[in-house]
Amino acid sequence: MAEDNGGRAENEAPLADDEPSARAGAAGKTDPGHPGRRPSRRAAVGAAAVGVFAAPGVARAATGASGAATGRIDVHHHAMTPQVRAWLVAHGQLPPVGGPLFATWSLEATLDTMDRAGIALALLSAAIPAEFTATPALAAELARLANDGHADLVRSHPNRFGLLAYIPHSTADIAVAEIRRVYDTLHPDGVLLMAHDGLTYLGDPTLAPMMAELNARDAVVLVHPYNLPASVPSAVPPFVADFLADTTRAAVQLIVRGELDRYPRIRWILAHGGGYLPYQAARLSLGRALGYGVDAGAVRAALRRFYVDTAGPMSPYSTPTLLATVGTEHILYGSDYNAVPADSVLAGRDALLADPALDASARRRVARDNALALFPALAPRLAARS
Ligand SMILES: [Zn+2]
Repeated sequence: MAEDNGGRAENEAPLADDEPSARAGAAGKTDPGHPGRRPSRRAAVGAAAVGVFAAPGVARAATGASGAATGRIDVHHHAMTPQVRAWLVAHGQLPPVGGPLFATWSLEATLDTMDRAGIALALLSAAIPAEFTATPALAAELARLANDGHADLVRSHPNRFGLLAYIPHSTADIAVAEIRRVYDTLHPDGVLLMAHDGLTYLGDPTLAPMMAELNARDAVVLVHPYNLPASVPSAVPPFVADFLADTTRAAVQLIVRGELDRYPRIRWILAHGGGYLPYQAARLSLGRALGYGVDAGAVRAALRRFYVDTAGPMSPYSTPTLLATVGTEHILYGSDYNAVPADSVLAGRDALLADPALDASARRRVARDNALALFPALAPRLAARS
């Protein structure tokens, strides 16, 4: 089932924690994904970790269990700086004290979790749904606050953190402005786009200027879900099922509208194993007969354009599908910390180590090698820690 095994040198030492002792007790549990949230406005503060950090005062050795030469690279990793938290409190999106897990971020806990999970470097991102901000101007303001804070954290910990800048896209204008600002001043490793902003999904023709700008920047884009637009409360929390449908909708529209070919320099990572896309892609061909979709060949080609992360979907049930869909070289390690607790990160790590569909070579690619191929600028930063 594992494919794409040819070509890459298997010259790295095993992961520091990829040992039988680390695997003992792995129960095949998968990451639960984001904590559930209601689609109400205040509860909307719930799903996406927002901002960045700040606290430069936490000094910590950049060594430890993560192992710079062998540790994981985490492409789906959130944080919230005190500045972003304060903004959300001031705008009525968070209570002054406490709040959901993602709102209780700290640098010290992050580094501790990374060390325990064998994460050498995490690409920090904010995932800010439109429900957090009442106007495009406020969305742009919060994005700048989050991205600037994340960039500060990368500067103070260049071999522990990278940056996927959050780009709001309720309008193409604010998206292009923030893309230009972050690439010209913050030099991110890539960007995060929510699957939809308001009622507009990625792939919508109105976003063409944003896509062109991302294409010009050779951007790597992490597509991140949230509650489905106009959803109503139900017995099933959105993170359980709706999030996966949200990612799938964005990927489908990118495929059907030809965006992958129109903007070939953009590299796409679909969060949470690509949502349902790997499983349901054949419906795109079925749908063509009903007036919406693409032919089977186009589906196969499109699927190979996507990367997926391991945050939440990896299991003996899903991994074989992901291997058949995108291949070993397009699966990237993602923890979804701090939208999930540290224990879930460790359980997800153990599930990967125990996954019967992944041999040692595949695990190494998922944990690190694939990310280094997609983000080559990380290699010298990691080497500086060795
Ligand atoms: Zn997330």
